[in-house]
Amino acid sequence: MIGAIEAGGTKFVCAVGNPDGTILDRTSFPTTTPEETLAKVEEFFSQHPIEKMGVGAFGPINLRANSENYGAIENTPKVPWRYYPFLEELEKRFNIPVAINTDVIAACLGEYEYGIGKDVSSCLYITVGTGIGAGLVQDGKPFQGRNHSEMGHVLLQKHPEDAFEGACPNHGTCLEGLASGPAIEARHGRKGAELADEDQVWEIEAHYLAQAILDFFVVLSPEKIILGGGVMKQEKLYPMVREKFMERLNGYIEVADVNELIVAPGLNDEQGVKGCIALAIKE
Ligand code: ADP
Ligand code: ZN
Repeated sequence: MIGAIEAGGTKFVCAVGNPDGTILDRTSFPTTTPEETLAKVEEFFSQHPIEKMGVGAFGPINLRANSENYGAIENTPKVPWRYYPFLEELEKRFNIPVAINTDVIAACLGEYEYGIGKDVSSCLYITVGTGIGAGLVQDGKPFQGRNHSEMGHVLLQKHPEDAFEGACPNHGTCLEGLASGPAIEARHGRKGAELADEDQVWEIEAHYLAQAILDFFVVLSPEKIILGGGVMKQEKLYPMVREKFMERLNGYIEVADVNELIVAPGLNDEQGVKGCIALAIKE
């Protein structure tokens, strides 16, 4: 059996499963301090014999190949986790091989191996939630540069009717600063879930998502672009984003069926843990 930890900034999901992606047991609990949270992780896995483990972690995390702090959380706003040697602590406690990557790479790998991406050779997964992140898997391998990518921070052109100054403390009007859940809340004074009937909110949101997706598409040329995360619970965004994407692409690259290119996740919120299992197998 293989262990999986979807280590989110708000909650942790721990699971055990088989290499075919079947999940046998799972639990979840809020992310508190590292000590308290890892005690709960240990408690769960003490009930299940596992031979290896995969972790999809909130970030930023250190994935620099030769760094002595590989697998440590970096400069996160979640103060108790700042520079926490996450991978090292897990290896110490469990004494088995542990593979770590970002939460969005884990989700991407889950969809690539077991979900909506299983018949293609490249997938981009974008999560639109508290933050915005994206991860690319190509031929079964997570894309890795000098560190993991930070596609949520691409800079965008403003929507002509959007006066919002942007919520990213570093860049203001980057993708995350304009289109994350907290950005929607800051712009409109209410949470996204309460704004379902306000057409203008989703017009602006789709404008930014489509613009970023165009950028990612021309740079990376992925076969599937999977959009997940809490904000995408507004399902009307999918057709709006597709339409605006095609408008902006403006015939430059042929896309036979945009409904097959820009898609929702296929694994019903299990892409993260399933991807952690795939991550463990691959390392
Ligand atoms: P996280 O990114 O923290 O892991 P989520 O992916 O669930 O978690 O994203 C949370 C964000 O999504 C919050 O900002 C929340 O306001 C927003 N959100 C959750 N549900 C909805 C919804 N139905 N409509 C619009 N926004 C939503
Ligand atoms: Zn930013």
